[in-house]
Amino acid sequence: MTGSMPKASREAFMAAWRGEAKDPEVRALRAAMEDHPEFFPLWDALDQLGDQEIEVSGVNPLLHVTFHAIVRQQEGREDIPEVSRLLQIAQHRGYSRHHAEHLAALALSHGVWELLYQYEGEEVTRYRQRLRLLGLVVEDPELPQRLLRGALRNQPCPCGSGKKLKRCCLSFVESVAEPEVGLSPVMWLESPSPYVMPEFARMVDQSDPWLIVHNLSAVAAALEEWGATAAALQAHRQMREILQSQEPDRPEDLDFASMVEEDVITLALNHPELAGAGLAALDWLAAHGFEGDSAVRVSHQLDRAEFLTYLGREAEAQALYDQLLEKIRQGAFDRELRELIFDRYEDWQHHILPQRGIAAPAGSAASP
Ligand SMILES: [Zn+2]
Ligand SMILES: [Zn+2]
Repeated sequence: MTGSMPKASREAFMAAWRGEAKDPEVRALRAAMEDHPEFFPLWDALDQLGDQEIEVSGVNPLLHVTFHAIVRQQEGREDIPEVSRLLQIAQHRGYSRHHAEHLAALALSHGVWELLYQYEGEEVTRYRQRLRLLGLVVEDPELPQRLLRGALRNQPCPCGSGKKLKRCCLSFVESVAEPEVGLSPVMWLESPSPYVMPEFARMVDQSDPWLIVHNLSAVAAALEEWGATAAALQAHRQMREILQSQEPDRPEDLDFASMVEEDVITLALNHPELAGAGLAALDWLAAHGFEGDSAVRVSHQLDRAEFLTYLGREAEAQALYDQLLEKIRQGAFDRELRELIFDRYEDWQHHILPQRGIAAPAGSAASP
């Protein structure tokens, strides 16, 4: 085999993450897991997820780190010199080491099943050709587009196979030439192969805190969906820690942070045990001027009342509702907002308070 494959069972990942296994393959796996802080809450929760199919925004994190581990093990092997060469070329061209590995992983992933099960001459040769081709693309990002323009399809493939492009790497070139529309950090997780897009790879720094926060948000949503609420909370705490350590000044960074805080609020509304975090998110949004129009301000106040209640501060929640109801009496808010307030107040009185073993305050029922 070309680079021995770490035992990719769920148990192997858990053992690797616990730092138990000592053999080099599993240690390589652990190192790759450590290089992806956006997945830490997921690694921690692996033992709770049972047979749950693990996929976050189109990416299988287990497979992702396995590819890193394989590429690292292949580096320096004399029978596939193209791996080290591609890593060098890419870093020379401004890719981070991490992204350079993604590039090699892309070449690997295209033939992974053949490589796993046949691992003989032909597929290893194809792998080496893809690695060489990627090296050329990194040197010359326009190459895929030029190759696909037609006339070159009948020319020898640049991978060096001696075959015509159309009989060789054409489909691989097509996958590499995906249009770069809508590139955003979230594509890091969403697209199966964003790694090869040179502009993307140079733009995105794996250690960029905003990128990690953004990806953590996808991980948190997945964990919540899988019922691993404690792990979702951990993801969200990790996000907040990163956010608190930043001093956002660029407007886009601030917007980014505000989206994360909105996610935190949604998460906390679904899981009352996170009410403290929800409250902190509301405070952050208020402090950073994200309560512009009255609709947003009102909905945040309603959320605040709910969080306060979950934290045992019902009197403060009641005071918030009293303020809102008083404003309605003075003629504030449009019809939609008035109905929203009445609905949430009713829900608060008849569901949220009783759930906490508190009777609704007498005589305070509001009616439209
Ligand atoms: Zn990675
Ligand atoms: Zn080729």
